Amino acid sequence: MRPFKYVRATDPNAAARAVAANPQANFLGGGTNLLDLMKEDVERPNELVDLTRLKLTDIKMTRGGVSIGALARNTDTANHPLIRQNYPLLTQAIVAGASGQLRNMATNGGNLLQRTRCQYFYDTAMPCNKREPGTGCGALEGLNRIHAILGWSDKCVATYPGDMANALYALDAIVRVRGADGRERTIPIGEFHRLPGDTPQKDTNLQRAELITTIELPKSNFAKNSYYLKVRDRASYAFALVAVAAALELDGSTIRQARVVLGGVAHKPWRSRDGEAALAGRPASEESFRQAAETALKDANPLAHNAFKVELGKRAIVRALMRASKLAWPA
Ligand SMILES: Cc1cc2nc3c(=O)[nH]c(=O)nc-3n(C[C@H](O)[C@H](O)[C@H](O)COP(=O)(O)OP(=O)(O)OC[C@H]3O[C@@H](n4cnc5c(N)ncnc54)[C@H](O)[C@@H]3O)c2cc1C
Ligand code: SF4
Repeated sequence: MRPFKYVRATDPNAAARAVAANPQANFLGGGTNLLDLMKEDVERPNELVDLTRLKLTDIKMTRGGVSIGALARNTDTANHPLIRQNYPLLTQAIVAGASGQLRNMATNGGNLLQRTRCQYFYDTAMPCNKREPGTGCGALEGLNRIHAILGWSDKCVATYPGDMANALYALDAIVRVRGADGRERTIPIGEFHRLPGDTPQKDTNLQRAELITTIELPKSNFAKNSYYLKVRDRASYAFALVAVAAALELDGSTIRQARVVLGGVAHKPWRSRDGEAALAGRPASEESFRQAAETALKDANPLAHNAFKVELGKRAIVRALMRASKLAWPA
């Protein structure tokens, strides 16, 4: 591991200013992703600005819904009564990720910014446009079983690996950020992460040195009928091959509105607006869910080793919607 300077930030503006002042400085949340990347020599900051003493840990009601501090730990967020009662989809998604120990350390801001688990990104002997722009993409013609089936480019076929963000997309969250000049702005979650295009080194639309301060959840009508389904190679410590954040607002047995967000299939959580439109006004039934699943995956473009994700994605959508609507799963 390379030597680095450690700074403990005392307030958000000072934290952002410290990172802005040094192009090789980075924020440090729980460190569960960044420190691994530094040990692997993938990320090489020469200064870490520790955010964990900042008073950005509140989870509280607001006029519009609930606000979650960026420095609140994943465990505290998942277990908070306001989240459990009003946004159980978010609780399920967080708890589906990592392990108890990791969730105790991981912060919400850091979780949103976790980097891809593409094996070539972690291996500094391999070409990777995300780690070193212009070197090529090892996965495009290499082993790409865990990679994208939607929205990829010939520069990068990686997926966003997180679980929490999939639920935040379904819940229309807003990310509040603060720059080094003290100015705040908000980013709708759907515009937070990016598709790879020609610049896969940029995972998000955050500007340099912008600090995530809170994540805001608008009031939700999905608490009664939502479900987070994660399909993975083994039961714990594994990232999603495919995940589905499914949410329904029902009027009797008719779907008033729906949310269908896929994880593990693209460079960002993949919200299927076509799949959602296919559900609106239809009866909550296995038949409607199957049609929506076909619609959601109709543009899938798998790579050499991951065609299985297309069928897996469809089945996962149907199953997640069945669970969300509380329809019995056929034997
Ligand atoms: C073995 C293992 C298994 C895992 N499995 C899963 C899984 O199944 N699902 C899942 O979703 N995740 C999984 N994770 C990832 C884990 O959830 C993330 O590592 C964690 O959420 C990152 O949070 P952190 O606070 O530790 O971030 P850090 O590692 O501290 O930071 C990550 C990045 O965010 C930046 N950052 C942190 N806070 C802020 C802020 N407030 N504003 C701006 N930038 C900030 C840092 O500069 C850094 O670039 C796993 C991790 C491990 C090690
Ligand atoms: S898929 Fe993206 S992260 Fe993986 S090797 Fe290619 S460029 Fe790098």
